[in-house]
Amino acid sequence: ERAREAMARLVVDVPDFPSPGVVFKDVTPLLADHEALTAGVAALAEAGRDDDGATTVDAVVGMEARGFLLAAPVALALGASLVPVRKAGKLPRATHAVSYSLEYGEATLEIHTDALAPGSRVLLVDDVLATGGTLRATRELVEACGAEVAAVAMLMELTFLPGREALGEVPLTCLTSV
Ligand code: IMP
Repeated sequence: ERAREAMARLVVDVPDFPSPGVVFKDVTPLLADHEALTAGVAALAEAGRDDDGATTVDAVVGMEARGFLLAAPVALALGASLVPVRKAGKLPRATHAVSYSLEYGEATLEIHTDALAPGSRVLLVDDVLATGGTLRATRELVEACGAEVAAVAMLMELTFLPGREALGEVPLTCLTSV
């Protein structure tokens, strides 16, 4: 519990970024703090373990870009594959793509079609859960590969937004919430 409070203190509010009226949660001070990052990665990895500590997922998917920073150490901790979900046009081979609407405009995310074995179980990792648009699109990409989202783990959840509804019955671990 104290570790979570310390983590929450290391996420800095940045008013009016990236646009007026938005309070952006900046997690870079948390990444810079070795103890907090170690505790944070360990707690995120718990979402991919059973009660005996055995790994329950085959792959960890990180969403561009801050998700990459967390998904990689989580995948190493779990002994699982690491798979990036990227913004349109970044992955070099055949992809599945899902477009979703943002407050202003549209975004597209992609995954390599062969990134996940059919039937594999996946842990999704990102820094902040806001509207849930990124999460919903990523879930569709995982399912397009024939794989299944077994769990989701985030550093922070913005509870004034309905992001969690993107998940349905899938278990969600958020280390801190505002
Ligand atoms: P959503 O799709 O609205 O849930 O937004 C989540 C995505 O946007 C994640 O990939 C986050 O990294 C990013 N994001 C949204 N709001 C914030 C924030 O306040 N701080 C850091 N990242 C954010």
